[in-house]
Amino acid sequence: MQEIYNARAASAQSASYCHAGRFRLITGQQEMERMVVLKYLGHACVELSHAGKHIIIDPFLTGNPTAACTWDSVKADLILVTHGHSDHLGDAVQISKRNNCPIFTTYELSVQLQKQGANVIGGNHGGSRDFGFAWVKITWAAHSSSIGSNQLFGGNPCGFVIRMGDNYMYHAGDTAVFSDMGLIGESYPLDIAMLPVGGFYTMGVEDLSVALRLLKPRVLIPIHYNTFPAIQTDIRALNEAVEKSSESKCIILGPGETFEN
Ligand SMILES: [Zn+2]
Repeated sequence: MQEIYNARAASAQSASYCHAGRFRLITGQQEMERMVVLKYLGHACVELSHAGKHIIIDPFLTGNPTAACTWDSVKADLILVTHGHSDHLGDAVQISKRNNCPIFTTYELSVQLQKQGANVIGGNHGGSRDFGFAWVKITWAAHSSSIGSNQLFGGNPCGFVIRMGDNYMYHAGDTAVFSDMGLIGESYPLDIAMLPVGGFYTMGVEDLSVALRLLKPRVLIPIHYNTFPAIQTDIRALNEAVEKSSESKCIILGPGETFEN
């Protein structure tokens, strides 16, 4: 059975981390209206839902050994793509066409996706857009970006700060830890940070405590780990890194599991 978890309930616990299965939430109607439901779909793919609207981030589902669903079952009002690598761009074009919804990403990547028939909005780092049901800002990421086996230029990679419901959330995309995470942490009271922890292609557990000190999120949702052999991650080390960091709680979601905040 799918588990549902709540950060406000989790924050009452004394442990600095938890496996999500320990908490089940019952909330009042008023709180429900402010809440965001975060569903982890595997790898770096996350669905955010609030008031009947759905955002899907980095929808790598086809070919993802940990995917919790197939691309044609996704309901989306907005797609966010952090960069052109296949494990992030994934099924974004097909989902955009099927749901008649835009892909918001960096300009150069948006041009390439438009050529494939997607509905796109191309922005760039530091820029933001209010979609009504959510406000989204494009942030820096220390990584690379190209599209497909032909290595088409994909512009610069990015992350996103998202305000939806009563929550500020940060999806880092693929990135190394970088000091300007401190600007994000100073500028936005982050409720949730979705950070890559698998190492090799991105920051790993060894940099997690630094990232959390800069970002100061109430809750960490680890992403981009254990999908492939190269990014196998020691969950015990992950939890120890979070314990060292600060007041952040780590919520570990398996593919298909949901967290409410
Ligand atoms: Zn990746």
